[in-house]
Amino acid sequence: MPTYVNPQTCNACAGEHEGPLCVYICPNDLMTLDTEQNKGFNQEPELCSECYACVKLCPQDAIFVRGYSDFVPLGASVQPKRIDGGLTWTVKFRDGRELQFTYPSRSTPVGSSDPYKDFTEDKEKDLAGQGLAGESKWLGVDVLPTLQGNK
Ligand code: SF4
Ligand code: SF4
Repeated sequence: MPTYVNPQTCNACAGEHEGPLCVYICPNDLMTLDTEQNKGFNQEPELCSECYACVKLCPQDAIFVRGYSDFVPLGASVQPKRIDGGLTWTVKFRDGRELQFTYPSRSTPVGSSDPYKDFTEDKEKDLAGQGLAGESKWLGVDVLPTLQGNK
């Protein structure tokens, strides 16, 4: 579901920032500025990795997602936006109806998370043991099969 810009509402981030925020944030360098029209656009939608950083950052709410037709039918639009503590997807239908789906997300301050907290790094022991992700429990067996080596 790549992105597209509504040129009616894009103002190239004029007066708000030093340059277009979508161009700044896109990790794949896809968002660019049409200097003649002074509008941002996604120059290579096929390569969009759908991170939606540009959508969430656009100060004009000018960037939309090309949603799959099973949840965004013809004539509708969809936008994910960051809110306090979560994310809201808004679908606007062509008959004027609007649906919102809100999901909580972690709001750990930037730089404060420790992904390895409480994890031990003992790969050899892990490989020899039964503790890997609790497979035995979820497979319904007492002991997982292990390699016995060549006899
Ligand atoms: S961030 Fe939004 S307003 Fe700014 S250039 Fe991109 S599409 Fe236009
Ligand atoms: S969704 Fe992500 S990858 Fe796609 S254009 Fe926006 S910032 Fe770039």
